[in-house]
Amino acid sequence: MRQLIAGNWKMHGRLADAAGFAAAVKNAPAWADLLICPPATLIDRFAAALAGSPVSLGGQDCHALPQGAHTGDISAAMLAEAGASHVILGHSERRVDHGENNAIVRAKAEAAIAAGLIPIICVGETEAEREAGEAEHVVRSQLLHSLPPGFAGVVAYEPVWAIGSGRTPTEDDVAAMHTAIRAALVAQLGAAGGNVRILYGGSVKPGNAGALLALPEVGGALVGGASLSATDFLAIASAAPRG
Ligand code: PEP
Repeated sequence: MRQLIAGNWKMHGRLADAAGFAAAVKNAPAWADLLICPPATLIDRFAAALAGSPVSLGGQDCHALPQGAHTGDISAAMLAEAGASHVILGHSERRVDHGENNAIVRAKAEAAIAAGLIPIICVGETEAEREAGEAEHVVRSQLLHSLPPGFAGVVAYEPVWAIGSGRTPTEDDVAAMHTAIRAALVAQLGAAGGNVRILYGGSVKPGNAGALLALPEVGGALVGGASLSATDFLAIASAAPRG
């Protein structure tokens, strides 16, 4: 399966950034599927700028309900209408900043699927949990409680301590966690669990992408900071194994 290289712009990016980025990636040769998750305000502009391009668009969050009195929130259908095909859910910044727990993430995933979006569900341990030897247990529990039955989306393993820190787990630790996640997905979802892409996220850069993307059960990357540069994003994508 081709790998998926997804960029999470977080709360970065203005109109001019979107136009420049879209022009740079629109026709770029890529050996992986490319996905940009800009702020929701830019999805519509990106969609117009990327018309005819294989590059996909995603949101960074959605509400669990289709509509209602929820000031500041955005529904999955709104994201889809703007041009998104995917939505990141349960990112550690949402779990920490907005108190999102596994049950909320699961409800959001159900809403995303109902609106025709592919959810990318983020899981990952804190540094204290890793040091206590609990990393796999924590991640298995997040998977069990965040993924709806019959889940056919994407999982992103993002150790919280690796996000934006410039630090990554060892290659052995990434491989071990991805192998554990695959086993958990198959136990949870049956054979379909074998088809779920498992992305690695946390300080992926052009310099470490090749080694990380070549590890067993790594099906792509969720890239934060480095995805703000089209040059770096494309360099990461070109490091994906040719599938
Ligand atoms: C992220 O926020 O999903 C992420 C992986 O960030 P960074 O690449 O900057 O560590």
